[in-house]
Amino acid sequence: MIACLERFIHENDTESRQDDDLPNICQSLDLQGSIDCVATGLAGKDFGGTYSFKPLAIIRPAGADDVARVVKAAYRSPSMTVAARGNGHSINGQAMADGGVVIDMRSTAENQFKIVRMNGEMFVDVSGGALWEDVLIRCVSGFNLAPRSWTDYLGLTVGGTLSNAGVSGQAFRYGPQSSNVSELDVVTGKGDILTCSERENSELFFGALGGLGQFGIITRARVKLQRAPDMVRWIRVVYSEFEEFTRDAEWLVTLPEGKSFDYVEGFVFVNSDDPVNGWPSVPLDPDQGFDQTAIPPTAGSVLYCLEVALHYQNSDHPSAVDTVSIGAGCEELAWTAGIYQRFEVPNGRHLRGIFIPCEASGGTRQSQWDMGLSSPLAQHVISKRDIADFDRMVFKRLLKEGVGGPMLMYPLLRSKWDNRTSVMIPAEGEIFYIVALLRFTHSKGPCVEKLVSQNQEIVQLCVNKGFDFKLYLPHYHSQDDWKRHFGNQWSRFVDRKASFDPMAILAPGQKIFKRII
Ligand code: FAD
Repeated sequence: MIACLERFIHENDTESRQDDDLPNICQSLDLQGSIDCVATGLAGKDFGGTYSFKPLAIIRPAGADDVARVVKAAYRSPSMTVAARGNGHSINGQAMADGGVVIDMRSTAENQFKIVRMNGEMFVDVSGGALWEDVLIRCVSGFNLAPRSWTDYLGLTVGGTLSNAGVSGQAFRYGPQSSNVSELDVVTGKGDILTCSERENSELFFGALGGLGQFGIITRARVKLQRAPDMVRWIRVVYSEFEEFTRDAEWLVTLPEGKSFDYVEGFVFVNSDDPVNGWPSVPLDPDQGFDQTAIPPTAGSVLYCLEVALHYQNSDHPSAVDTVSIGAGCEELAWTAGIYQRFEVPNGRHLRGIFIPCEASGGTRQSQWDMGLSSPLAQHVISKRDIADFDRMVFKRLLKEGVGGPMLMYPLLRSKWDNRTSVMIPAEGEIFYIVALLRFTHSKGPCVEKLVSQNQEIVQLCVNKGFDFKLYLPHYHSQDDWKRHFGNQWSRFVDRKASFDPMAILAPGQKIFKRII
C-alpha cells in the first residue's frame, strides 16, 4: 500500500486530487488512525530548526496495529522509509524521513496507561508516544507514584528518550531511563509486534534501548516507579573553583542512598551580570537575588553551580530533612560562602528547574523554542579523566561568554548503565560527565551557523586531544563516523540491524544505514 501511496503522490501533484483519494488509501492500509499527505509541515521540522525534509505523508496511528501495518507496507515497497516521531526534540533531523513516511507517535499518547505490581515492585505501562510530563502527572495524582529516572525537560516522549538514554539528576542513583524499564512492545522493521524484556526477545529489548530508533518502534514501555515525595528541598550552591565543584559533585553521587541527595546536577555559568548566561541565571527564586560580593577575587571567567534536591514527605520530621540536606550534605561541601539558595517546592517542579528562571522572566526561552527558532543544542558524555581539560579549553576559553542558555555539567556512574543496551558512553572509569549546551538563537545573539560551527569545533577539539567521549544525541554524516562512535560495539549494532530491520526502513534521519533497494 505504501508503494501505492508513493506512486499516487508522484503521479498526482494537486492537493485536491490527494484529498479526494486519501480515504481510499487509508482504507487500503486499513488504519484506525489517519494519514495526511498535505499538511505534513510538523513532520519536516524539529527542535534544532536547522534541518527540514519533506515527508511523503504523516500518519497518526491509533495504536501498535496501525504502526505495524505501515511498517509492513514499507517493508514490501521498493524504497520506502519510516520514521517514528516522538515530540520532535531532536536537533539534526533524526526523527524525519526525507520522502518517506513519518509516524506521529503522539497520537497514541493516551494508550496503554496501566499501573502494574510485579514481585513487590511497582511499574506503569505507558505508550511510546506519551510525554514524560503526562506520565508524571498521571502517576502522582492518581497513585502517589513517580518514575525513578527523569529527563530535565519533560516535554519529551517515552519512546524518544528510551531510544537515546534519558538522563537527569536522578541518573547517578538509578541510571538513565533506559535502565529503568522492564519490558517493551516494539514494532520491528519487518512489521512484527514483539514484546521484549531481559528474558524474552532480549536482543531486541537491549537493542531498542538507546538504539536511535534503528531496530523498532516502541509502542509500549513498562517503567519502574517509586513512591512520590510530597515535597522537594531544592538547593543551589556556587563554586569559583572547578576542582572543588567536581570533587563535591563526585562525592555526592558516590554516597549511599539515604545519606545523600536524591538529585544531583550542576551547571557552568558566566562570571558576569549577563542576564541569560551570568549571575542572574542562578537564583531559584528571582526574589532571592545573587550576592556577587561573595565571589572571591581569584575567580575566573566562569563559575560553577551545584544543584541538589532532597525528596521528603510532609509527615517527615523537619530535623530528619535537615540532617541530610544541611548536616551530612551541605556543610561538608566546599561551596563559596554566601552563595546558597534554598527552595521548597512540590514534587516534580524542580525537574523543570532550567525552565523556571525563564518562566519567571516571561517565558522568553520557552516561547522562542515554541516559535521554532533554531536551537542547536549539543550534548556530550566525557570521561572524568578528561573533564578538567575540557573545562579549561572549552568552558574557560571557547564558551567563556556562555551559549545563551544553560551549560549543564554533572557526574554519572558507569555501574548504573547496562552495557547490553545500544547506548554508548565513554570507555574508561566509573565516573563520567554529561555536558549539555542548551543553546538557542535570539535576535541579538550569534547566528545559527556560528553556533553549529562552534559545536563542531568542540567535537573536533575533543577528537584532536584524544578525549574519551561520546556524543549524546549523536549526529554523523558518514558510516565511518558511526563506526567510530560505536567502536567495538559496531558489529553488534550491525547484527541487530540485520535481525530486526533488514531492509533499513526505520529512522532514516539518523543517517546510519541506507535503505536497501
Ligand atoms: P524525537 O526527537 O521525536 O525522536 C528521537 C529519535 O527517536 C528519532 O530517531 C526517532 O525516529 C526515534 N523515535 C521517536 N519515538 C520513537 C519510538 N516510540 N520508538 C522508537 N524510536 C522512536 N535528553 C535527556 O536525556 N535529558 C534531558 O533532560 C533532555 N532535555 C532536553 C531538552 C530539550 C529542550 C531538548 C530539545 C532535548 C532534550 N533532550 C534531553 C534530548 C532528548 O532526549 C532527545 O531530543 C530525544 O530525541 C527525545 O525527544 P523526542 O521524544 O522529541 O524524540
